[in-house]
Amino acid sequence: MSEQAEQANEDRRKYEFRKVIEELTEYEGSGTQLVSIYIPEDKQVSDVVAHVTQEHSEAANIKSKQTRTNVQDALTSIKDRLRYYDTFPPDNGMVIFSGAIDAGGGQTEMVTKTLESPPQPIESFRYHCDSHFLTEPLEHMLTDQGLFGLIVLDRREANVGWLKGKRIEPVKSASSLVPGKQRKGGQSAQRFARLRLEAIDNFYQEVAGMANDLFVAERHELDGILVGGPSPTKDEFLDGDYLHHELQDKVIGKFDVAYTDESGLKDLVDAGQEALADQEIMQDKRLMETFFENLHTGEEATYGFEQTRRNLIMGSVDTLLISEDLRSDVVIYECPNGHEEYEVVDARHSTPDHECSECREDAEVQEREDVIEHLMNIADQRGTETTFISTDFEKGEQLLDAFGGIAGILRYSTGV
Ligand code: ZN
Repeated sequence: MSEQAEQANEDRRKYEFRKVIEELTEYEGSGTQLVSIYIPEDKQVSDVVAHVTQEHSEAANIKSKQTRTNVQDALTSIKDRLRYYDTFPPDNGMVIFSGAIDAGGGQTEMVTKTLESPPQPIESFRYHCDSHFLTEPLEHMLTDQGLFGLIVLDRREANVGWLKGKRIEPVKSASSLVPGKQRKGGQSAQRFARLRLEAIDNFYQEVAGMANDLFVAERHELDGILVGGPSPTKDEFLDGDYLHHELQDKVIGKFDVAYTDESGLKDLVDAGQEALADQEIMQDKRLMETFFENLHTGEEATYGFEQTRRNLIMGSVDTLLISEDLRSDVVIYECPNGHEEYEVVDARHSTPDHECSECREDAEVQEREDVIEHLMNIADQRGTETTFISTDFEKGEQLLDAFGGIAGILRYSTGV
């Protein structure tokens, strides 16, 4: 699969996840009877079955008969689901939700959902029983995108690693032979100072080498680099241009951190929160800037469902921009004379009647589907990249409010 196709696939998966999660968060159990199980990829399925069986027998002690029955039913359907898996769960693990949800009017309804291979690995096994499904860990995986390089250093020690979403991965460390400030007797002060500077310079080169080895190959995927340490070490390191010049350009901030061991990487991420948040919507901001420029100066922009769809089919859309908060369906109608027409409706509303705009006959509903899936399917076939745009900045909000949440940057002007 090409890199772009992989990215599109990933975006689609994320969108599908987000939809399921939104649905799950709306459910409520009448007691603590909604079960969520998070299973890491290295957890044996047989262990999970054993755990669920154990919970099932413990649930026999629940006093309320209804709650007891509901919990046991949920656990039974989870066991049924687990039968589909061999030794281990799929890559990155999986999550199973099951329980009797409040369906209104004193009625309950059994719901069971499995989410396989989330965007980031599930780190630990969790069994959770509550009046709500536990969705936060998955939500975190979806909101925190991005790949960042981390470097912490002082003159004695350095660590480099990754920040992938919310996860910090320490990768390499080094310690220096830089002598302390006290010189030994018999050494000339000048010579001592020179040797010390040389040792510091060597160490900075070593740290830069470590960072280059790790980050240069990923520089196109890298959203930024954070550098931490005490003053003036990190400043000397950056001002001395030790890093590969392309990495140097990726540095989005330097921060004071006290420790330069692995825990320093975590301190660095904490200190850099604001810079990271800005960076996350940076790509969205750039894309929306391009869209508005194209809209004002030329014709290489499209927006709204109909127009964007037509351009997508022509293959003229370079990047499809979809608002993260768009929740709409497209309804496909056909009139008795065979005219096909589309209407976009709020996903929560029922399907409206439709009159054909050409012959004024009443049209019948052919199909109703998620508008994003509809457009992404066309985009996939035409090699168009789809990007979800956050509403956390002004132009992102405008995409949703003024352009119906759908727009595109075109490869060339089509006049459509
Ligand atoms: Zn018609």
